[in-house]
Amino acid sequence: MTNSKNTKFYSTLVFDDSTMQKYLDAKSYKDFRDIVENGKPLSINLADKIAAAMKDWAVSMGATHFTHWFQPLNGTTSEKHDSFLVPEGDSGKAIFSFSGKALISGEGDASSFPSGGLRATFEARGYTAWDPSSNAFIKDEVLCIPTAFCSYNGQALDKKTPLLRSMDAIKAQLTVFMNYFGVKTKDIVVNVGAEQELFLIPKKDYEAREDLIMCGRTLFGNKPVKGQELEEHYYGCLRPTVSNYYKELDDELWALGIAAHTKHNEAAPSQHELAPIYTNANRAIDENLITMEKMQLLASKYDLACLLHERPFEGINGSGKHCNWSVCAGGSNLLDPGKTDSEIIRFIAFLSCVIAGVDEYQELIRASVASAGNDCRLGGNEAPPAIISIYLGDALSNIINAVMSGHSYEAMTDSKMDLGVSVLPQIMRDSSDRNRTSPFAFTANKFEFRMPGSQMNLSDCVMVLNTAIAKSIYDFNKLLEKGKNKIGNTKKFQNFVLSCCAKTLKDHKRIIFNGDGYSSAWQKEAKKRGLSNNVTTADALPCMISKNSVELFEAFGVLTKEELKSRYVISLEKYNKLINIESRLMHRMVKRTFLPAINEYASDLSSQINEISNAQKTYKLQNQRASLKKLLSGLEDIYESLEKLDDLRESAKSIKDEQRKANHNAKKLVPAMKELRHCVDAMEHIVPRDWWPVPSYNSMLFYV
Ligand code: ADP
Ligand code: MG
Repeated sequence: MTNSKNTKFYSTLVFDDSTMQKYLDAKSYKDFRDIVENGKPLSINLADKIAAAMKDWAVSMGATHFTHWFQPLNGTTSEKHDSFLVPEGDSGKAIFSFSGKALISGEGDASSFPSGGLRATFEARGYTAWDPSSNAFIKDEVLCIPTAFCSYNGQALDKKTPLLRSMDAIKAQLTVFMNYFGVKTKDIVVNVGAEQELFLIPKKDYEAREDLIMCGRTLFGNKPVKGQELEEHYYGCLRPTVSNYYKELDDELWALGIAAHTKHNEAAPSQHELAPIYTNANRAIDENLITMEKMQLLASKYDLACLLHERPFEGINGSGKHCNWSVCAGGSNLLDPGKTDSEIIRFIAFLSCVIAGVDEYQELIRASVASAGNDCRLGGNEAPPAIISIYLGDALSNIINAVMSGHSYEAMTDSKMDLGVSVLPQIMRDSSDRNRTSPFAFTANKFEFRMPGSQMNLSDCVMVLNTAIAKSIYDFNKLLEKGKNKIGNTKKFQNFVLSCCAKTLKDHKRIIFNGDGYSSAWQKEAKKRGLSNNVTTADALPCMISKNSVELFEAFGVLTKEELKSRYVISLEKYNKLINIESRLMHRMVKRTFLPAINEYASDLSSQINEISNAQKTYKLQNQRASLKKLLSGLEDIYESLEKLDDLRESAKSIKDEQRKANHNAKKLVPAMKELRHCVDAMEHIVPRDWWPVPSYNSMLFYV
């Protein structure tokens, strides 16, 4: 497309602020900013003007269609293209036109999207509503307008709506919080930087494996002879194909205003990463969804396939999407320790709120990243376990400990005490020590949530984080309220704030863990601390509809009980459907791909043995016979495991209740799938390469 070796191509496909100013009169532009910044209602008159401006710009860029681009609950993005074309009567002429009404809202038959029972099929209409806080952009000659998606009754049927509501929730609580610290501001933004991991493998190998095509991951296959143990792939030189792919990807993303910043080889063979420069959460998540789409579409042009599954290959690292999260108020990052006394105290207060929110709602945070794909990853190679904990690092932990043990601010800033708060900024700058095993790690001026899987829409977890932390800020504000009379006396107030932090931290310190999150000792320790460890999606999801969760989301206006229930149902159903698809495909591949190949080779080997022993009777051919025996007993194991899998799949079908079905799938069917895989994989070691019917890990992961 464009060749953005030059910054002038940056954001050319985006109806961004400067483009809007160019295409809109000054008064309308000012009114629009007022709407976005202060939540004023949008008049149809102004909508008409903005629509016309958008259309003029889009047409000048070669677009012919528009779409309301939204994020339904199936986890993808959706678009239906309508043209701008309007025929002028019978004149044989036509014009391009786009109305404010068509910009603001759309109506469509949405009965094919999951609603989790929110929308009856007879009432099939779904409505899209323009989100003016995220920029419209052009993709494939279509003007894409980011929108929310809801039912006739206004219930959210998408991932964006609750995300936006959660931003309002945290904003409202932080406005009060900041007031206590003498800052009056409405400019409060949640920022997200999404580090996207991916695998790139040869397209021909992808096409030769039904499991990759249908499930995005290999359901069979032994780990490659050389894995990642030589630690040579991470940050290694990009292979030329991948480098060319990345160059074009950067071009496309930059033109779409996505500031793709870092690209590098990841730890596993054929694994890569792309990180953009962070931006406000709503936009960052839209950008990440576009990035994933571009990554997948562009791959085939380079004869590659891009895999975004959480664990495409067993025995090497899985793929995550690290969600870097921070909050800015009045232009300052609240997770930046700051320099002045008041900034430092405010930092400790905000940090205490994050710690409290994450501890209190750890199960919800875990549930927000639960999926069949992530079940294959969490707790595996280089992925955090299913236990939520927070890494602060030694320096910050020491300071937190000093706060908890009741040191006054004066004592902490005393130069004799080397844990002095005044050295905090220095410590934070210098302590670049990273703990990669932590699911939620403080990294200099942000938290890095490492649990999300690579193919996920981050809205779910960011929405939960925002809401959980909005609640802990609300609680903290209540504590601060009691010390209002001290605000006039800086020292007294600072010490009072620290006492509130001490109380909050003492209640939630169990969540802080700086050790090795991958170790089995941590599993035991976490249990002792009462932290939850919901290993599978079936274990993780039920908390979504607990009394506690309903109260939280309703109190902050993020999700109603019905909306929560619908999301729980959709997640459960999706999990069950995916396990069903994977187990059915396993059955099919075993029957139609692996068994014929193994049987054929067994028969060939026995003919070989017969032929050789007929020709030369002196040799007993023990080794060949042993191989044949192994093959035959392996075949028996496969038939047996397959039968077990089929039985368990049958019994899953008869379970009507989705939670019970999920429990059955997680506890019985998934282990049976692993067992069947194990039996087939054992044969891969014996059957010669040319007989093996699918490309091996060795060939898929190591190519030129
Ligand atoms: P690493 O791989 O060491 O974790 P990267 O530099 O690859 O770090 O990625 C860090 C990501 O975090 C980038 O997307 C970056 O823009 C983002 N980020 C940096 N600072 C912040 C912040 N204050 N809030 C949110 N995201 C941030
Ligand atoms: Mg990272």
